[in-house]
Amino acid sequence: MISYGDLHALLARIFTAHGMPPGSAAILAGAVAQAERDACLSHGLFRIPGYLSSLRSGYVDGAAVPVVEQPRPGTMAVDGARGFAQVALEAGRVRLLEAARNLGIACISIRNAHHYAALATDIEPFADAGLFALAMVNGRSRVAPFGARRAVIGTNPIAFACPRASGAPLLWDMATSAIANADVLMAARDGHAIPAGVALDRHGEPTTDPEAMQDGGALLPFGGHKGAAIATMVELLAAALTGGRFGFEDDAFRYPGATTANAGQLIILIDPAATGGAGAAERVETLLTRLTDAGADRIPGDRRLAARASAAENGIPITQALLAQLQAWTYPPAS
Ligand code: NDP
Repeated sequence: MISYGDLHALLARIFTAHGMPPGSAAILAGAVAQAERDACLSHGLFRIPGYLSSLRSGYVDGAAVPVVEQPRPGTMAVDGARGFAQVALEAGRVRLLEAARNLGIACISIRNAHHYAALATDIEPFADAGLFALAMVNGRSRVAPFGARRAVIGTNPIAFACPRASGAPLLWDMATSAIANADVLMAARDGHAIPAGVALDRHGEPTTDPEAMQDGGALLPFGGHKGAAIATMVELLAAALTGGRFGFEDDAFRYPGATTANAGQLIILIDPAATGGAGAAERVETLLTRLTDAGADRIPGDRRLAARASAAENGIPITQALLAQLQAWTYPPAS
């Protein structure tokens, strides 16, 4: 077991050893440590080799200084300068919050940035501050549009968070592919099949073999043609609307070893006090009570919050081998 604080500090040392300034390293370390603490294992420590590989490849600029513009009172437009998206978000966070409070609604559009993490960590603090929040990110082409046989759009997650009258915000966070790409990578690593109906091989034929999907195949969107429409909407809101790149425009192939995508992200914040919803947190509670009474045995976020509570009490599970590997990564890579 490792405490959240110790894990965060260890990850920050790894990222600084790989060329990131301490402030940016701490931000990225927070995103990874929070995902691991919340048992979002597809976007926690599992991702570290990919982060380091992208940094080493030069595709990501770990020392990037994002440029924040505010073209209109309610819009923050950020050029991530090829850095990590969490650093770009942090650069615009205060102005975004101020604008949402003053205007009732505000958004931040991030382009030219790399998001390789769980979206939940980006927006939970906004719901903690009493706002409704919606976030979307696009990524490398990995998902075939409905009826197509090859990948065009990304796994394009969408996350929603809002305050509750009691306890932590209600939050859900999901890839719009039938399963996240990281789950395919983990299945390949662990030598087991992926579920039927979620992937195609390079010939456009259904497959349950994770290696066949990774070798030029594609994932399918969740929910048939309706899920495909939402996945496409995310690609448009995260890339077209922000000035970012579509998944198929990503040029990671020019940077051997790069695993992340240069893509876009959109976050929209709404202050319920400005929309007639001053009592929204109580209304959220009313609906959740109804859902539970109707038999919903689990609210989105229950698993994540249970893992967080367990981590606070017992620490975050980690093997000795992984801990040793993380410690080895705190030394700068041989040039
Ligand atoms: P899951 O399918 O595991 O979960 C999606 C959401 O549904 C979660 O909020 C989860 O809550 C909730 N949920 C799961 N099962 C139930 C249930 N039985 N009843 C009610 N609610 C349930 O997530 P994904 O695999 O789709 O995504 C995993 C992560 O990958 C996300 O954090 C996403 O942001 C990230 N991702 C990031 C990408 C990027 O480019 N940066 C690309 C794609 C994905 P709970 O958290 O409590 O389990």
